[in-house]
Amino acid sequence: MWLDVVFVPLFLLNIETIDSPPGGGYGRSVIHADYTHSLVGALILSAVFGAFAWWRWDRRLGLLLGGVAFSHWLLDLIVHRGDMPILPANAGDLPLLGFGLWRVPVASILVEAALFVAGVFLYWRAARSLPAQGGRVTPSMVTAVLLLSGAIVLALDALGI
Ligand SMILES: [Zn+2]
Repeated sequence: MWLDVVFVPLFLLNIETIDSPPGGGYGRSVIHADYTHSLVGALILSAVFGAFAWWRWDRRLGLLLGGVAFSHWLLDLIVHRGDMPILPANAGDLPLLGFGLWRVPVASILVEAALFVAGVFLYWRAARSLPAQGGRVTPSMVTAVLLLSGAIVLALDALGI
């Protein structure tokens, strides 16, 4: 979510914008996130995120978290409607990127759901392999909360709410 976290203040400052059609709807908006979601901008933001984690923890975690941060751009590339520039501010007016899966909402929702369930499963598998921390919250409880909250968010998103 790092790229979207940086997107929020730029959106509030009207530097990055969203064009929504009347009535809104799932995946119908064209997003002008020309800094945070440009290829080079995403690489820079991911490198900054990874560098912070490297400084704060270690090299391995820095590389891992930088890669995870950049995975957001790769996943957005699948769904965005050709609105992601290569260079920040769409410098050079290069072709805009995005495979546009949002044009087929059912397929997009299924892909989102599958990626989400796979991510939660990976979390659950990794968390349960760790030694018990002695707290009351178990990996299964966190998994249940993640599945429920994710299902609610995806449902609201799919309904265009
Ligand atoms: Zn995004």
